[in-house]
Amino acid sequence: MKALAWMGKNKVEIIEVPKPKVVEPRDVIVKVTGSTVCGSDLHLLHGTVIELQKGDILGHEFCGVVDEVGSEVTKVKKGQRVVASFQIACGSCYYCKQKLSSQCENTNSNTIENGMHGGRTAGISGYSHLTGGFAGGQAEYTRVPYGDVNLLLLPDDVPDEKGLYLSDVLATSWHAVVDTGVKKGDVVAIWGAGPIGQMAADFSLLNGASRVIMIDSNWRLDYIKEKYPHIDTIDFSKLGKGGSVTSKLKEMCNNRGPDVSIEAAAGEYAKGWAHYFEMMLGLETDTSEIVNEMITSTRNRGSCGITGVYVGFTNHFNIGSLMERGIKLIGNGQAPVHMYWESLLKMIQEGKIEPLKMVSHRVRLEELDKVYYKFENKEDGMQKVFVET
Ligand code: NAD
Ligand code: ZN
Ligand code: ZN
Repeated sequence: MKALAWMGKNKVEIIEVPKPKVVEPRDVIVKVTGSTVCGSDLHLLHGTVIELQKGDILGHEFCGVVDEVGSEVTKVKKGQRVVASFQIACGSCYYCKQKLSSQCENTNSNTIENGMHGGRTAGISGYSHLTGGFAGGQAEYTRVPYGDVNLLLLPDDVPDEKGLYLSDVLATSWHAVVDTGVKKGDVVAIWGAGPIGQMAADFSLLNGASRVIMIDSNWRLDYIKEKYPHIDTIDFSKLGKGGSVTSKLKEMCNNRGPDVSIEAAAGEYAKGWAHYFEMMLGLETDTSEIVNEMITSTRNRGSCGITGVYVGFTNHFNIGSLMERGIKLIGNGQAPVHMYWESLLKMIQEGKIEPLKMVSHRVRLEELDKVYYKFENKEDGMQKVFVET
């Protein structure tokens, strides 16, 4: 079968590999019908996530049809349409019982807990050997461990093109909004206007926010201005001498700042992984500019949530502002997809959310290697793609 594989730093290729088989009794083999590329996949492409091996199959967002089930699978049946969660959860540990599936204790023995995390997090499909080394879904077929737990049945009225995004983007952006505590009347500032930021903007408004301000630059903001004319924007690259995102936000929000700030950019993610080694060597690293910007911008007693992915340690963190002004800084973590995907499916069915809004291109699996490079350079305004398989 065909699959998209990591073949070295900045190199992905469509290769021929054997079709996966049921290995454990709770495995399900899915014939993939749709997948997508995520901002997070670019970190893999760049080789900034350690422990990738040549030939690793990528892809953590996919949907398809059940092709084969293991002997202990009871819920999903051959032929059913399903979407997979990006995280692989066991469904029965301390965290899974509370639907905190991204903190599952049983699916990722290869975490960096010995280094710095201080605890395990769940496995993730197609996302390096740091997250369990599972083959991903940018392929014709893939193996989903604990299939009854990690697959959601898609009803007839929800096409693949919409259901696919339940695997990550919708759960992640909804979690960012709920977990950071957006409520009626709030002014919400969002750093990063990619698909996660865009959906977080929609969800904030759905939760009653009175205003959303998005911070990004260039073509991304042109896209927001065109598709989301009701949303205010700040171009961080055009603030001029002495200007800052914080002063601009204060000016726009009664000199106090937004009630809630959400990080959906992780401009420093790549730096974070590289800095992991620096940290291990005892060298200093700077804190994320965005996190300090969020802390100083947010009104006293407001809250900030970090959804963009960070790794490692940091210095020059504005702990004084955080403490004195009573700011709540929340690590949203990888979103616990299982907690939300049923209610999000209902929102799609009721037309409360429209995932197709963020989809810019429809492509085929055979051309996905080239698509990665286009996606990386945002050529053609490419953002979320639907990969037909
Ligand atoms: P994306 O790359 O499409 O968008 C990120 C945007 O951030 C870009 O438009 C970029 O211009 C902007 N940006 C960079 N530096 C900035 C800065 N200093 N200020 C403001 N904006 C800045 O990514 P995406 O797919 O929308 O994902 C966003 C982030 O969320 C990524 O880090 C991704 O890895 C992460 N993510 C987290 C989870 C989770 O469960 N926590 C799940 C999926 C994605
Ligand atoms: Zn993703
Ligand atoms: Zn678990």
